[in-house]
Amino acid sequence: MQKRRIRLHSDDRPKQWYNVLADIKMNPPLGPDGKPIGPEMLAPVFPMNLIEQEVSTERWIDIPEAIQDVYSMWRATPLIRAINLERALGTPAKIYLKDESVSPAGSHKPNTAVAQAYYNKEFGIKRLTTETGAGQWGSALSFSCSQFGLECDVYMVRISFDQKPYRKTLMRTWGGNCFASPSDRTKAGRAVLERDPNTPGSLGIAISEAVEAAVSDETGQTRYSLGSVLNHVMMHQTVIGLEAKKQLEQEGVYPDVVIGCAGGGSNFAGLALPFAHDKINGKEVDIIPVEPAACPTLTKAAFSYDHGDEAGYTPLLAMHSLGHNFVPPPIHAGGLRYHGMAPIVCQLVVEGICRPESVNQIEAYTAGLQFARTEGIVTAPETNHALAQVVKEANKAKEEGKEKVILANLSGHGMLDLGAYEKFLDGKLEEVELPAEVLERAAAVLSQYPKPEILKSR
Ligand SMILES: *Cc1c(COP(=O)(O)O)cnc(C)c1O
Repeated sequence: MQKRRIRLHSDDRPKQWYNVLADIKMNPPLGPDGKPIGPEMLAPVFPMNLIEQEVSTERWIDIPEAIQDVYSMWRATPLIRAINLERALGTPAKIYLKDESVSPAGSHKPNTAVAQAYYNKEFGIKRLTTETGAGQWGSALSFSCSQFGLECDVYMVRISFDQKPYRKTLMRTWGGNCFASPSDRTKAGRAVLERDPNTPGSLGIAISEAVEAAVSDETGQTRYSLGSVLNHVMMHQTVIGLEAKKQLEQEGVYPDVVIGCAGGGSNFAGLALPFAHDKINGKEVDIIPVEPAACPTLTKAAFSYDHGDEAGYTPLLAMHSLGHNFVPPPIHAGGLRYHGMAPIVCQLVVEGICRPESVNQIEAYTAGLQFARTEGIVTAPETNHALAQVVKEANKAKEEGKEKVILANLSGHGMLDLGAYEKFLDGKLEEVELPAEVLERAAAVLSQYPKPEILKSR
């Protein structure tokens, strides 16, 4: 019998994170004056120990024991060989999926949430504020805050707040507070509500609210926490790829293709960065971030400087961006509706180390359904985008008659996304295209900012 689940011995779990900043050049974040910002400018927003990680160029960073201890509640996660899917596709490819859905919150997000809660606690912080799209991040942070005795205030994008009420319950179950965004609790939220009382909200708006709530707390014991995009988040997630690499080594294989869906870029980067490290050092591997056709940041948007949030509170980041005021079409993968992308992932795309692709939501759910009916796991709508690319690559391997090894991230389960599955099964889910004027509008917004340099690390 062929092995379906590749486990990792607890001694083989990573004790350090991989920091790709040791191996690539990056455009620095810029302040309002157009000059690179110093770490002290971030101090009202993040604790200094995390700011140090954000700018560190050390290649390996020790994972504190207390974090390893919480990780051990569900890590190492299994690597699944999707034998039934391979057979259904009739492909000679071997398909491996790193199953991050087994965490308490059901996704990869606790990998950084736990780390961020720990470092804030160490720094003497009492409360974290954050935003959440589909609710995955808010629940991951609520869980993590409960592990370290912190309070947690979550601003949840309105459309998801309405479509996904159980995530709110999950946050409250772990002791978090959840508010629909835009809310009337912040200046940023009130301004948007005045312009457009029926707005579905966006991650950009929710970020503005959470940042404002953190920096305006007069006790000085509140900080903001971001679930994706930032350098330290990408680094915390590398436990995924580091484990997967060892698990594949046990199987005696190395991937030809590495795939992850990309919203802010963290689950993709978490799986891909250890392989990007190999590629920088001469290995051949095709590394593919997959985004929705309705929010095609890497595949269509310009590489520019832009704010990470709607109100323009955050520094300017060098990234592919659809414009910080982009309100994405309401597709059913809330976690993939961000206007920008992690600067690390963007830099890897600029350098040709990663090759972005996009898929539409019908392709995504079709793949998700096929996966559920072969492998049994009901995956998150976000994950389905990665699965659609897996199917494409497996079919390509079949055409070429090549025994390729495909590795992808199973970023989360879809057990709280069944409303979207129901729509798909009823034939009511539509293909959503990007409105044509979005890119023109984005170009106009981005034209006011400096252009990042095209840096080459190799
Ligand atoms: C949040 C989320 C994503 C997208 O976020 P990234 O930072 O791009 O990883 C993808 N899949 C799942 C299950 C998520 O919860």
